[in-house]
Amino acid sequence: MEHAKGFNNIAEALYLRDHMLGQMELADASDDPAQRQARCTFVVVGAGTTGTEVAGQGLLFTCAALRRHPRIRPDELRWLLVDAPAILPELGPRLGDPALRILRRRGLDVRLNTTIEEVTGRQVRLSDGSSVPTRTLVWCVGVTPGPLTQALGLDTVKGRIVVDEFLTVPGHPDVFAAGDAAAAPDLTRPGQLTAMTAQHAQRQGKAVARNVAATLGHGTRKPYKHRDLGSVVDLGGWQAVANPLHVPISGPLANVITRGYHLYALPANRMRVATDWFTTSSSIASSSSSASSPANTPGSQRPSRPTSITKPTGSPSTASGKQQAREHGPLSVWSCNRLSPASGLR
Ligand SMILES: Cc1cc2nc3c(=O)[nH]c(=O)nc-3n(C[C@H](O)[C@H](O)[C@H](O)COP(=O)(O)OP(=O)(O)OC[C@H]3O[C@@H](n4cnc5c(N)ncnc54)[C@H](O)[C@@H]3O)c2cc1C
Repeated sequence: MEHAKGFNNIAEALYLRDHMLGQMELADASDDPAQRQARCTFVVVGAGTTGTEVAGQGLLFTCAALRRHPRIRPDELRWLLVDAPAILPELGPRLGDPALRILRRRGLDVRLNTTIEEVTGRQVRLSDGSSVPTRTLVWCVGVTPGPLTQALGLDTVKGRIVVDEFLTVPGHPDVFAAGDAAAAPDLTRPGQLTAMTAQHAQRQGKAVARNVAATLGHGTRKPYKHRDLGSVVDLGGWQAVANPLHVPISGPLANVITRGYHLYALPANRMRVATDWFTTSSSIASSSSSASSPANTPGSQRPSRPTSITKPTGSPSTASGKQQAREHGPLSVWSCNRLSPASGLR
């Protein structure tokens, strides 16, 4: 997939961020409508947790970046999420369905039962027969651990090193593996492996340390056992879906839980991250006052496509304003709502 961008680590995330901003700058500088449209179109493949978060948050990120590019009309931005029958399939319909509703309400073009047939540097061809001119394809399918696991000559399952319940490699009592790299048996779900999440990786790190110490005569080794506490998916703005302790919730409450959990999980710099979330939202908000006059509202006189990303037209006291406030919270500016022919902005 030479034309696709990954999103597996911080370096790839920063690269993608710079690439998206670069595409918007080039679109802003171009007078060719086709080129502008292609550069402002972002396609994400894979609607698992990573792809769903990338699409939901990426859309808001590019919406916010519009304030630096007044020549780009909001309705020129286009985001597609392409995958199999459902989004967040690993979390089930009780989280997948609300997430789908939230993303579609925002204007994200979610194509279910659709795969990528062909990719070039200029466009992607989808299995539904459509071709989408774009310069950005984000590949969020098939997360695997790094190549080292395959190079060690040990048994692997889906690229992960086979270990027993003590996280020891069978036949090699002094070799341990943990986290994404380890195909550890999930003792709470017999026959299954622990998920590739930080929730397990952090705990397995401690378990391995304890068991290594035991091999050196300090303490006794214990099997690794952890009952999954649930999942959180941050959709950006004030939206998320989550199932803490397997209770499914969505919307702003889920978002508070999601961000609270992520702050709690950070080993350091919690204050800095929380401040960054707050100031990012505030800077988006402050751009609303300068961008809210008609002269500063790009494309406000132009008709939008059926699926478009638009700036809010209603104040929080209006029905649409309230909807937008629910969607993005009081600090957010840009609304990415689907236009319905019958009801207009929802
Ligand atoms: C976009 C994204 C979002 C995610 N969100 C969540 C979430 O919300 N909640 C959650 O629980 N999980 C989440 N995960 C999964 C989580 O990040 C991983 O499960 C977790 O980081 C695994 O930890 P690890 O220590 O096993 O591996 P990693 O965090 O990948 O660490 C492995 C380290 O080893 C280094 N390394 C690799 N090869 C070598 C080598 N040959 N020599 C030296 N160093 C090497 C790598 O550079 C890396 O620093 C997410 C993953 C992605 C990609």
